[in-house]
Amino acid sequence: MTKPRIYLDYQATTPVDPRVLEAMLPYFGDLFGNAASRNHAFGWEAEKGVTQARQILGEAVGASQREIIFTSGATESNNIAIQGVAKMYAPKGKHIITASTEHKAVLDPFLALQNQGWSITILDVDGDGALSLSDLKAAIRPDTVLVSLMHGNNEVGTLHPIAEIGAICRDAGVLFHTDATQTFGKESIDVDAMKIDLLSASAHKLYGPKGVGMLYVRRRSPRVRLEPIFFGGGHERGFRSGTLNVPGIVGFGKAIEICLAEREKDHAHITGLRDHLQNRLNTELDFVHHNGHASERLACNLNLSFAYVEGESMLLGLDNIAVSSGSACTSASLEPSYVLRAMGVGDDLAHSSLRFSLGRFSTLQEIDLAADATVATVKRLRDMSPLYEMAMEGIDINSIEWSGH
Ligand SMILES: *Cc1c(COP(=O)(O)O)cnc(C)c1O
Repeated sequence: MTKPRIYLDYQATTPVDPRVLEAMLPYFGDLFGNAASRNHAFGWEAEKGVTQARQILGEAVGASQREIIFTSGATESNNIAIQGVAKMYAPKGKHIITASTEHKAVLDPFLALQNQGWSITILDVDGDGALSLSDLKAAIRPDTVLVSLMHGNNEVGTLHPIAEIGAICRDAGVLFHTDATQTFGKESIDVDAMKIDLLSASAHKLYGPKGVGMLYVRRRSPRVRLEPIFFGGGHERGFRSGTLNVPGIVGFGKAIEICLAEREKDHAHITGLRDHLQNRLNTELDFVHHNGHASERLACNLNLSFAYVEGESMLLGLDNIAVSSGSACTSASLEPSYVLRAMGVGDDLAHSSLRFSLGRFSTLQEIDLAADATVATVKRLRDMSPLYEMAMEGIDINSIEWSGH
């Protein structure tokens, strides 16, 4: 009998909600027009679908629809925001600030700008993945033009205090961009109350299609200007040329509509299952370490390190369960998770970490099967581990002097 496949990797991507797919389908058929075609009904119909989506996506963050730029996803949104601001405001100053636990789609544009002559500050985080606001204040200089700090972390789920960060940036006259890809549609966001100037989000993290995202760009107090990073037909106020992905945008709009209508229900469902999973693993296993903040955290995320076992070996034992690992061998690079490392988690614990991420379609039965499999796998691996045996006997492994090396 084949084991059922269980998906617990909702922070990597989510399945498309059937209601979203249904809303998209007509735009692959009769409503196939180019939203930029001004001279005929095919164009007008497509544009109507785009405008409706733009409206609801804007409202979802308290913005006007004219402030929403459609992109191919959060990676592109982050690049347009960071490179666009840095280049436009270079005459004012060439210093930009971010943090060590950001997504690569923020860190890599920062490093690219550094290579082109910008000065960058990468803030440290504490063991929970939290930022120090006094460090942020101290990092802002007269030539700082942008602060980019994410809302919810994709690996460990820690939430940053966006409203407080926004207030600090506004007081200092520095633009504030937030990568809200993990929180959009899940946590409440208001760009005015939180003093956000630019915000990135992506449809495929909230039960919409892949390949479509958005960038909110504030139009007043202050009006944000951006240098485009590529050029063409001048779509999206000139910030992002290229024919719009109409079905994807319509799906994104439908996805956020459902998220907003069902936010409380989803949140309660997901938090309940997440707590159940965490409780089971904590009671049935010892030496389990939670990575992330105990309370300021995303509902869907559970990142745990299981001391004395290797992430890769665990993944082999969990072959029917889709989770992520902070371990080296599961990623393209040979380093263990840079996010865990930035939080001061040692290489051993980073290598033994698993990220479970839950979503709308997760069930109690799936969570129990995942917990059963995790407990059995960790126990089996530890039974073969001399380090675990020593730990059980109370021997401090760090005090051992290894011979033969
Ligand atoms: C998934 C993710 C991205 C990248 O989004 P894409 O739409 O896949 O480009 C960026 N930032 C965060 C925090 C993410 O979780």
